[in-house]
Amino acid sequence: MTEQQKIILVTGASSGIGAATAQRLAIAGHVVVAGARRPIAAAERLEPAHLDVTDRDSMTRFVTGAAERHGRVDVLVANAGVMPLSRLDALLVDEWDRMIDVNVRGLLHGIAAVLPFFQRQGAGHLITTASVGAHEVVPTSAVYSGTKYAAWAITEGLRQESEPGIRVTTITPGVTESELAGQITDPYARAAMTEYRRDVIAADAVARAVQFAIDQPADVDVNEIIVRPTRQR
Ligand code: NDP
Repeated sequence: MTEQQKIILVTGASSGIGAATAQRLAIAGHVVVAGARRPIAAAERLEPAHLDVTDRDSMTRFVTGAAERHGRVDVLVANAGVMPLSRLDALLVDEWDRMIDVNVRGLLHGIAAVLPFFQRQGAGHLITTASVGAHEVVPTSAVYSGTKYAAWAITEGLRQESEPGIRVTTITPGVTESELAGQITDPYARAAMTEYRRDVIAADAVARAVQFAIDQPADVDVNEIIVRPTRQR
């Protein structure tokens, strides 16, 4: 292992931003453990793992397995997320629960699993994929934005509480090419999103932001990067 090579875990790596991030970081020479529920193809330095972030045991196995194989865990990219948008009065309560389970509980499970390693190592880097929805609410985004505000706050809280040596970054994408909007079941939200998502940036644009944060010297903590299409208002 070279001095610059890191052991990097990426959640939600079976499509979109997570897949682009895992591929980019593996090509850059890091060892990437890529987790999701759907299968992921193995590649050089890219190790697929089955992961359901809503299941705390699954997350613990994901992190401890990587630590056992490689001796340490340098970075967790907590990227897994879902976005079944709808107005509150559509009462799609199961979808609200799913957003809370994946976007909030999933992040907390990740923190619970990696933090003991980061503390033992005296170093580590949590990178959370939030959203521009963590800074603004629009009709149909109330619950999704709520989960992303929470992700932003939890990540900032970790920054404030952490020992020096532990780095914390929130990546805040705007409209990005991925499968995310495909899960919207509410017809009103789906129509609104089709219009909103007309101009997208490639998932690799967000992956480059993740790589930038990781590549900084150990004493430089990039706390938030907002990346969106130039045409997005
Ligand atoms: P995708 O739908 O393409 O990717 C979402 C990823 O999350 C998939 O790999 C999916 O894998 C994974 N995932 C969902 N549920 C679980 C679970 N229970 N356990 C493990 N993995 C899970 O969308 P994006 O790439 O766009 O989403 C990545 C992140 O970026 C999300 O947090 C999203 O909120 C955020 N984001 C995206 C924006 C965009 O415009 N694309 C804008 C702002 C933020 P699988 O189904 O195989 O488990």
